[in-house]
Amino acid sequence: KVEFKSSYLQEVMDRVIAKNPAEPEFHQAVREVLHSFEPVLERHPEYIKAGIVDRIVEPERVIMFRVSWVDDNGKVQVNRGFRVQFNSAIGPYKGGIRFHPSVNLGVIKFLGFEQIFKNSLTGLPMGGGKGGSDFDPKGKSDGEIMRFCQSFMTELQRHIGADTDVPAGDIGVGAREIGYMYGQYKRLRNEFTGTLTGKGLTYGGSLVRTQATGYGCCYFTEEMLRTKGESFEGKTVVISGSGNVAIYAAEKAQQLGGKVVALSDSNGYVYDAEGIKLDTVKQIKEVERKRIKEYINYHPNAEYHEGCSGIWTIPCDIALPCATQNELDGEAAATLVKNGCIAVAEGANMPSTPEAVEIFLKNGILFGPGKAANAGGVAVSGLEMSQNSMRYSWTFEEVDAKLKQIMANIHKSAQDAAKEYGHEGNYVVGANIAGFLKVAEAMLAQGI
Ligand code: GLU
Repeated sequence: KVEFKSSYLQEVMDRVIAKNPAEPEFHQAVREVLHSFEPVLERHPEYIKAGIVDRIVEPERVIMFRVSWVDDNGKVQVNRGFRVQFNSAIGPYKGGIRFHPSVNLGVIKFLGFEQIFKNSLTGLPMGGGKGGSDFDPKGKSDGEIMRFCQSFMTELQRHIGADTDVPAGDIGVGAREIGYMYGQYKRLRNEFTGTLTGKGLTYGGSLVRTQATGYGCCYFTEEMLRTKGESFEGKTVVISGSGNVAIYAAEKAQQLGGKVVALSDSNGYVYDAEGIKLDTVKQIKEVERKRIKEYINYHPNAEYHEGCSGIWTIPCDIALPCATQNELDGEAAATLVKNGCIAVAEGANMPSTPEAVEIFLKNGILFGPGKAANAGGVAVSGLEMSQNSMRYSWTFEEVDAKLKQIMANIHKSAQDAAKEYGHEGNYVVGANIAGFLKVAEAMLAQGI
């Protein structure tokens, strides 16, 4: 099927599909990015000559490994671990680790591919990578989580390092898991370095890292809103998810004067017309590690609805999808538009389907794609690496100010690139192009 004006891009896409069968998420991520490259390649034939796009869609290295561990009943369990070292043109591989039963090679490749452009956009020297496992942390005891993390790192440690590849958290991997993995890394390698980010504050972690993705998503949204003379003040906000990203997006949205009325998890969503009480959510999710449904036990006036996609039927001004890939489809997007939503920013990676993105763009919604809007997490990871290298730590205010500046820079880079290449106001194209140009120049300079 002919999808591209450029025959070069068409060939690359065809090859990606043929060589990576049964990886729909990876195809989806590549297709979107390649579409943005059409105007770039017209101006830069040297990129075609140097095979930049052929090379950028192929990971530099893929590592797949067995993770065996013993559960609380003494039964041996076997999971599969992954680390995709996608592109190191501008710095050491950098990207999170995801523990979720839906993880497979195609999912990790889509995430690693997105990470190349996201990391480039931050302006910090970080290449793109991603890792994970099909391990399901839900319902596991603390001991099981620890043994799994240790087994995972026993293999992964030989492939990573502070100047080689620096993993962090993602879905299913938070401060607890990073702690267990870091402990194992240190035991095996006998070195205290910044090899993982998202570490605890007592052993080299950075202030604001926990909040960074959510806060950054709101800072980016604020920048988009400003272009229309708008702000969060007095706006109704719907946020999907109730993990680290969603909770701190909600916190910042509230600080900026927005009213957050809903949060969700993979089972359902809560709606609190009076505004979500975040202290309760933090208690349920961060302390008790329970489901969002518990919220209505604390606040009987709130509603709980089974099924997570219904959250997009709640009328709102601003929607922040902060759960997982493809959680917001065309139908949900059309409903948001119909209900008067003016801005959508992706706290998760690729939460909007291609149909949803098209609907947002066609209707003039301010739409911040994940690789721009959620780059705050990895940006503060980059700042954690800098602090570790300096054996120093910045204050909360210092890191927060840097995060804010980085998000404003990303907004401007995406805005400028979109304008320069004839897609004014389109942050999807703008982010892809701005992220790509730096990587392409580095690849060109470094030869084949
Ligand atoms: N998992 C996050 C992301 O998708 C953060 C990665 C990192 O901090 O390295 O960008």
